[in-house]
Amino acid sequence: MDLKRAWEGCGVDGYSRGMPHESIAQHYAQLIGLGRPWQVSRVEVSHSDQEVLIFVARAARPRLRCPECDRPCSGYDTRERRWRHLDTMKYRTLLIAQVPRVKCATHGVRQVAVPWAEEGSRFTALFEALVIDWLREASFAAVARQLRLSWDQVAGIQDRAVRRGLARRDRPVPTHIGVDETSFAKRYEYVTTVNDLKAGVVLYVADDRKQGSLDAFYADLGEKGCAALEAVAMDMWAPYIRSTREHVPEADQKIVFDKFHIAKHLGDAVDRVRRQENQQLRAAGDDRLVKTKYQWLQNPDRMTRSQLRMFAPLRDSTLKVARAWAIKEAAMGLWGYVRRGWAKRMWKQWYGWAIRSRLDPIKRVARMIKKHWEGVINAATTKVTNARSEGANSKIQWIKRQACGFRNRERFRNAIYFHLGGLDLYPKTLQSTHSKA
Ligand SMILES: [Zn+2]
Repeated sequence: MDLKRAWEGCGVDGYSRGMPHESIAQHYAQLIGLGRPWQVSRVEVSHSDQEVLIFVARAARPRLRCPECDRPCSGYDTRERRWRHLDTMKYRTLLIAQVPRVKCATHGVRQVAVPWAEEGSRFTALFEALVIDWLREASFAAVARQLRLSWDQVAGIQDRAVRRGLARRDRPVPTHIGVDETSFAKRYEYVTTVNDLKAGVVLYVADDRKQGSLDAFYADLGEKGCAALEAVAMDMWAPYIRSTREHVPEADQKIVFDKFHIAKHLGDAVDRVRRQENQQLRAAGDDRLVKTKYQWLQNPDRMTRSQLRMFAPLRDSTLKVARAWAIKEAAMGLWGYVRRGWAKRMWKQWYGWAIRSRLDPIKRVARMIKKHWEGVINAATTKVTNARSEGANSKIQWIKRQACGFRNRERFRNAIYFHLGGLDLYPKTLQSTHSKA
């Protein structure tokens, strides 16, 4: 598109023709939402730079006030500041103002507050809101490219948004939480996320997956908050268990090792049995288990008729993996028992079967389940599951993919809060017009 001609067509070019100068200034003042004492003094358009410069000045001279304590102060000096604003017909648009600094007895030399931007930002609030809206839907790289921003500038806007959101958030009082780990960047670096399973939001993101990671959350929640917890769903991971036992009263009745994680452990065990057996069979020229990995891992209830027809002879065979699979499926069936006594009896029966299976990977999971009996029975009888936070985990995987791997833990943490924290992210000057999307 020929932008210069488009500009000329709308009569904003140079102000020698078309709309009179004054109404253009007024027009921009309205677009930016300026009120007294600020007004647009002039607008310049540069076609060579494809840029619109909006000069803003203070019309009246009301008393200057400290941005921190709002006390009237004497002026110190004035500085020219620029803010990137929403583009005007594809031209980069900048707001330029001489902004006074005041000298406050308590807070020292500070720049007075301006209504169009938050302190310290080089973007107007409307522009930051635009970036926030785009970040919800597109990758970091796409947002940077489309809005002509550097990666660091996008990250800075996201960081400020999250900080605002966390500062505004009411103190959470969750009753059901899920604790999860997720890896990022290099495969062995982790963050721990704590999810409110009822509200479906991430409450907390901590470094690593150590006891200290979860300790920090509980410390933040406080003694009362910890006492209010009714269920803590997690994987059978010793540091999380230790932390929860130390902070949550009657933890052993509240820790829940949910169906999801147990299914995952058993699924891994079945796959390990399959791999070993496949090797042995192939050495003897038997290819029955080649390319069958996903048949063993798939939920049989979701198989199509033809998938079932292919799978049935394997399932009914005398292969070791068929035995491992049957043990796993039996465990999944135990989630039907909701009465504690029954659930316990059935799990014990299952354990006896699994431990006599002569399949090492299965025996290992069986021992792990036995060691965490109470939590497994709790999960079976309360029906609390980490499914919600597993959903959050897959969203986190998306965040990782769209950001092409965060090299920096801080950014990864911010992105998790940004997308999953349920926070009010917009600059405060826009809070009234932009409610939570
Ligand atoms: Zn002050």
